[in-house]
Amino acid sequence: MDAAPEVPNPAALQGDGTGCHSGKEQLLAAAKSAGKSEVLRQYAADYPKGPHDQPQSMCPAFGSLRVGLRMRRTMTILSGSACCVYGLTFTSHFYGARRSVGYVPFNSESLVTGKLFEDIREAVHAQADAAQYDAIVIINLCVPTASGVPLQLLPKEINGVRIIGIDVPGFGVPTHAEAKDVLAGAMLKYARGEAEAGPVATPRGGRASKPTVTLVGEMFPADPMVIGAMLEPMGLAAGPVVPTREWRELYAALDSPVVAAIHPFYTASVREFEAAGRTVVGSAPVGHDGTEAWLQAIGSAANVAQAQIDAVKNRMLPAIKGALARMPIRGRITMSGYEGSELLVARLLVESGAELRYVGTACPRTVWSDADRQWLEARGVHVQYRASLEQDLDAMHEFKPDLAIGTTPVVQAAKEACIPALYFTNLISARPLMGPAGAGSLATVINAAIANKARFETMSAFFGSTGIGDKAGVWEGVPQERPEFRADTRRQVIKLMNKRKAEEMI
Ligand code: SF4
Repeated sequence: MDAAPEVPNPAALQGDGTGCHSGKEQLLAAAKSAGKSEVLRQYAADYPKGPHDQPQSMCPAFGSLRVGLRMRRTMTILSGSACCVYGLTFTSHFYGARRSVGYVPFNSESLVTGKLFEDIREAVHAQADAAQYDAIVIINLCVPTASGVPLQLLPKEINGVRIIGIDVPGFGVPTHAEAKDVLAGAMLKYARGEAEAGPVATPRGGRASKPTVTLVGEMFPADPMVIGAMLEPMGLAAGPVVPTREWRELYAALDSPVVAAIHPFYTASVREFEAAGRTVVGSAPVGHDGTEAWLQAIGSAANVAQAQIDAVKNRMLPAIKGALARMPIRGRITMSGYEGSELLVARLLVESGAELRYVGTACPRTVWSDADRQWLEARGVHVQYRASLEQDLDAMHEFKPDLAIGTTPVVQAAKEACIPALYFTNLISARPLMGPAGAGSLATVINAAIANKARFETMSAFFGSTGIGDKAGVWEGVPQERPEFRADTRRQVIKLMNKRKAEEMI
C-alpha cells in the first residue's frame, strides 16, 4: 500500500484544468500523495477494473448525485471543476431532478491553499437546517479528490443534520452504476452506526408485521410490488429498495433478515448488510428458471417451510411460462449496457425465444450474478463483464444480429450498419422485469424494432453514403478529403506515444 502522508496535501495537484479528458495517471498519483490512498485502495477492491480502466459512459459521479437527488429531505452538494458540475447538473435536470444541486466553486488558489475545504465547511454549516434536511451529501469530484480535499474531516453532524462526504473520482470509480453504491454504502454505514447506538426512527408506514426482504438496485416501480406479491404467500414482505428514497428507510433496509442483491454490483452496500448479520441472495426473479431459483433461495434464507416455497412456485411458475409463450421474441440479438441489470434482461430474452449471442455489461463480475452468468453461458451466450465499447461493437459485427440493444455509441454504429437498434437504458432497463409482470414485457418493443429492418434498408438505399464519416454535418460545399494531413497527424501521434513510452521506461 502507498504510504499516505499524515495530513492532506492540497498542493499535490498543481492547478485546475485536468480531468477525465486528460491525465488519469497524474490524477491518481496526485490523489495518492494527497492522502486518498485508503479510499482509492477500497475502491480498487470494491470495483475492480477490466480491459478498459477509464469510464466509457457518462461521468461516474452522476450515479452518486442521482441517488442523493432522489432522496427526500436530502441536499446534495458538488465540489469539482465548473465544467464537470455543469455537465452533471445538466444531466440531473434532464432526468427530472426537480431540485437544486449545491456547488462550492474553487480556483487554483483556493485549491492549493486548502481554502476550498474551508469554503465547503462554511457551505455545509450554512445549509444544515434540521427542519429541511435529514442529511447533506457532499461529493468530491476528480480534481478535489486528486488534491486531497479532506471531506472526512467535516463534522459527522451539524445542527442535527447528518453530513456524508464522499470521493467519487472518475479515476477510482469505473461506472456511474458503482457510484450509486459509493453513496448508498456510505449512508448504510452511517445508519448502521446510528442503529447500533440506540433507537432510530421507524419507517413512514410503521414497522412491517412480517419479515422483509430488502431489494438492492434501482428498478421499475412496479417490480417491488410484483416481488411483494410473490413473497406474501411465504409469510414475507418486500422491504425497502436500496438506494432508498428517504433516510429512515435505511434502518428498515438494515432490519430485513434477507437482502436480495437484484443488481449485483452494490459491493459496499452488501458489506454493510453483512456487517449487520444479514443473509444476501443474488440474482432475481426473472423468467421461469430465474424465478424458480430465486424463490427457493429467498425461502431457504428466510427459513420458510419447503411446502410453502413449493406452493408459491406452483402458483407463479405456470403463469410466467404462459406469459412467455404468449409473447415470443424471434430473432438474433446482441446486448450491452451499463446499468447492472443486463444479465437479468438477457435471461428474459433467452426464455422468450430470442437467439441471444452476446451480453456485455460495464459492471464487474461479482458473486451475486454468478448464477445468471452460468445460466446464460450454458445456453451459448457470451457474457462479457467490464465490457468495453470496442468489445460491444466487435460482437455486433461478428454476430450480425437482427437487433442490437446497447449504449448510445453502439446504437449509432448499429443504425449506420443498417441494423435495428434499441437503447438499453431508456427503452429496455426501464421496464418491469420481475415475475409474471416481467415475462413478456419486452416482446412488443423488441419485435417492433426487429420488424423495422426494411425501413432501415429503404433509408440506407435512399441516402447512400451521404453524411457518412468526414462528410457528416451541414456544409456549403462537399468537404475535400485530405489524406496527407491525416497521415501527418498520425505520424506525430505515433512519435508522441513512443516518446511517452520511452520516458516511462526510464
Ligand atoms: S468529475 Fe466526471 S466529468 Fe469531471 S473530470 Fe472527473 S470523470 Fe470527468
